Formats: sequence, structure tokens, C-alpha cells
Amino acid sequence: MAPMQIEQIPVLSDNYVYLVHDPDSGATAVVDPAVAEPVQDALARHGWTLTHILNTHHHNDHTGGNLALQKATGAVVVGSRQDAQRIPGITVKVGDGDSFLLGSKAAMVMDVPGHTVGHIAYWFPESHALFCGDTLFAMGCGRLFEGSAAQMWASLSKIRSLPDDTAVYCAHEYTQSNARFARTVERDNPDLTARIADIDARRGRGLPTVPSSLGLEKKTNPFLRADVDSVKRGVGLPDEDPPLVFAEIRRRKDAF
Ligand code: ZN
Ligand code: FE
Repeated sequence: MAPMQIEQIPVLSDNYVYLVHDPDSGATAVVDPAVAEPVQDALARHGWTLTHILNTHHHNDHTGGNLALQKATGAVVVGSRQDAQRIPGITVKVGDGDSFLLGSKAAMVMDVPGHTVGHIAYWFPESHALFCGDTLFAMGCGRLFEGSAAQMWASLSKIRSLPDDTAVYCAHEYTQSNARFARTVERDNPDLTARIADIDARRGRGLPTVPSSLGLEKKTNPFLRADVDSVKRGVGLPDEDPPLVFAEIRRRKDAF
């Protein structure tokens, strides 16, 4: 079986849209098409035919291209069952623990509420790839627009249980500003220091910092580390429970 091919398409000011292609079957998905045209250009460049539109959540910068792409290609639109009325053109409603095939590749659905109530992530275990929308970012996490801190902490903990070699395909290039914030929480984390140097160098050359790996996120992302002593101390809550520590980190980031 040929490995899955993933094409990263930067759109708008800082969004990433992804094409996911299974060479064995020809099946091709787009994840969170903010806009249609750059997706159609990339499909044409590769000679791929769109079969699936996968949405992580309802926000317009993740679904804005749904209807135009659906109309042009007849692709099915997969989205959260809980948020079906807010996903334009939805045809396949999914929820936690569901799985489906993208050609020959299995995709697993995880409910990861917090940024929105119906936020989901798509995990392709054989390909070690996670498409997590606005739940987990490189060194950051999504704002709590609809869910609670406890919900988001539970969602991030669920993601954290996946293997370290999982590539994290998040939906925005927010890494440098997230890094500046992460530094205020953990001043003496050597993995964080090394990572900041690496991403500054990449951005300096105009390169993306996404995808990252879950192993690296576990070592450097303060939002995945609300149960780590240095992070708890870093926000002045050495004896608090992780959901409360997480809430404090999120509150500080909102004001950063
Ligand atoms: Zn969003
Ligand atoms: Fe977004």
C-alpha cells in the first residue's frame, strides 16, 4: 500500500488547508477548506479528483469553501453530528469513535470540544497524521469560544494519548506568537528553548512550522502540560488540579 500524500495549502492570512490523497484508490480529501479556489488549483496541479470534504468545526475559515467545492466535484461533506446544522452541505454526520475509509486509509473521528461544542479531529493511524483544526496548535490551543476550560483540557488530554510520532496538522500558523507566550509560562524548559530557535529560523526563511509532532508538543506546549510541575509553578498554581491550571494558562494567553 502506497503512503498517503498530504499537501499543505496556505490560505487567507494564516490558515492551512490540507489535501489528503490515497494513491491506491485515488480518493482525495480536503480538510477545512476555508476557500475553494486555491484548493481547486492544487487539485488540478496534481490531477486529483476531490471525493471528501472533512470539516473539523463550523467556523467560516474552515468551511467557507464547502459549497463551491461540493458543487464542482460532488464530494461528500463530513462533519460533526452535533453541529450538523452549522456545517454547510453536510452529507455524512460523524462523532466520537466513528471511523470511515478514505479509499484504503482508515480515519478515526475524535470529539474534541472546547473551541466549539461540535469540534472534531480526524486521526489516520497508519499514516500517523492528525488533523485537529483549532483544538491543538503548535505550542498553543484554540480559544474557548463555546466550551469550558475543563472540556478543552479533556479534549487535549485525549489527543495527548495518541502516539508521539503523530504529525499534528493544525489549521493555523500561530507558532511564533504561541512560542512567545509559552516562554512566559516555562522559562527554563530546554526543549522549549531549542524549539523556539528552530521555529524562528524556519519563519525567517518563510517556511511553515506546521505540521509538528505530538511528541514535541508534549515537551513544549504549555496547554498540554497543565499537569507538569514546572508549568503549574510557572503560573503560580503549584498545588492546583490540571483543569484549573489549564484554565489559568488559557486566561493568561487570552490577555497576552
Ligand atoms: Zn475556529
Ligand atoms: Fe480557525
